[in-house]
Amino acid sequence: MINDAHCHFFSDGFFSALAYQRGRGEKPADLTKELGWEEPGSAERLADRWVRELDEHGVSRAAIMGSVSRDEAVIAEAVAKHPTRLAGFFMIDPGAADAVERTRRGLGEFALRAVCLFPAMHHVPLHDGRVYRILEVTAGYPGRAVFVHCGVLSVGVRPKLGLASRFDARLGNPLELQPLALAYPSIPFIVPHFGAGLFREALMLADTCENVFLDTSSSNRWIRYTPGLTLDAVFRTALDVVGPSRLLFGSDSSFFPRGWQKGVYDEQKRVLDGLKMSAGDQALIFGGNFERLFVDRSS
Ligand SMILES: [Zn+2]
Repeated sequence: MINDAHCHFFSDGFFSALAYQRGRGEKPADLTKELGWEEPGSAERLADRWVRELDEHGVSRAAIMGSVSRDEAVIAEAVAKHPTRLAGFFMIDPGAADAVERTRRGLGEFALRAVCLFPAMHHVPLHDGRVYRILEVTAGYPGRAVFVHCGVLSVGVRPKLGLASRFDARLGNPLELQPLALAYPSIPFIVPHFGAGLFREALMLADTCENVFLDTSSSNRWIRYTPGLTLDAVFRTALDVVGPSRLLFGSDSSFFPRGWQKGVYDEQKRVLDGLKMSAGDQALIFGGNFERLFVDRSS
């Protein structure tokens, strides 16, 4: 079984936001045409597109992440269309005036599974009181997680469209997450891409906080920041420090027609086979840990 803990749901609203930022009066379709990507259409249509893609690759479930603030209603619609296949994640800018209200609605009324924070993008430090307010709300909804992008942040579509990325990587240090993870032990925190360049810090965090998970997603190009580092060594070290029950396989798939990034899965499978990891431990990383976090057995 494969469950993918990291996919992006590039909705019409996502492209609308990019079109707005570019300031040329364009429509979402103008951007997708320029990119050579499929138009997403409605939430339900894009949800269907995703599930067809998952079926094609034998993927049981995927977390779909709203990739722009204020997209939670769209994510909820997509999940409602395929509740057994999709788990909804939504982005919150803690600096927004209605952030607390939107978090409550996303986790409650919309029953989404994770709040996604991007401190380097939203310029709100993790130790800021506005972040704590989001966590306070989240702690009131058992079974919900908080995803925190740390390390180097790149949103590939932005440079393709000539949009600047005024990110501040200083705000994405995994160590900044430690007091939060310790203050809210009931909340699972997910750090994607093994910390995206801050691998050592992500390991230090996960080693000291049992509620921290690392996702394995993307091509992990951050590896080139450390001379000689390989994906094999990354997995071996992560397994040694964190163990197999707190690693979540993710692909970081996003747009169509490219679709699901099978190459990411194939490479990680090759690495884990090469490490002679047992089938049981691999099953945790590729699916079991996701099930434990995001699938309600009661319903
Ligand atoms: Zn991603």
